[in-house]
Amino acid sequence: MDRTFLVGPSLILAACIALITTGCHARTGNTYRVIIDPNFSAENQELARSAVATWRSALGDELNIWSVEVGECHASGSPGRELCIHASTGAWLTSQFSYNVPGVHDYALTWRDVDNDSADTYVAVDLISGQSLQRSVTHELGHAMGLQHTQPGTLMFWFMNADEALVPTCVDKLQWHQLRGMNTTDDSSCPATTQVTYFH
Ligand SMILES: [Zn+2]
Repeated sequence: MDRTFLVGPSLILAACIALITTGCHARTGNTYRVIIDPNFSAENQELARSAVATWRSALGDELNIWSVEVGECHASGSPGRELCIHASTGAWLTSQFSYNVPGVHDYALTWRDVDNDSADTYVAVDLISGQSLQRSVTHELGHAMGLQHTQPGTLMFWFMNADEALVPTCVDKLQWHQLRGMNTTDDSSCPATTQVTYFH
């Protein structure tokens, strides 16, 4: 199981500080079902849907999210490629991993289960809202689909402030494709020189 933490200083928006890998690579696919925790407020459910929509927009028909629904999700141990977006708290995130840095709050994390192609993303709804919540969900969905951290200016950069990407960039699309055996952004508007630089 890969554990990915999304954290950041209180005055700056979402930041993902560490990717701890247990030696396995997540299996990646193109077809997913997304389940949103009913504990999200109506507004936050909509932000989560918007996060999913940015990935759909970036990848078009290549990404088949056949369902986005609100409901209970227990991805671990269940079959299929399920991406679960859970409402959580900063306290829960910290206690789960005993990880803290002075002045830094945990915001979100993803557990990716390499055995059954499912992933659980937890978002600290007591710490973030609005655009930063949507940004965090979008970033974590990237992890849930197999992406790792990349250079500044990309959605998958671990630390995001107001200048960082809110939606998948050319680099993020290239990484998504490379994971699936294609060395292309599949987007004519992206520079041919686009490269993925991993940033841990
Ligand atoms: Zn991250």
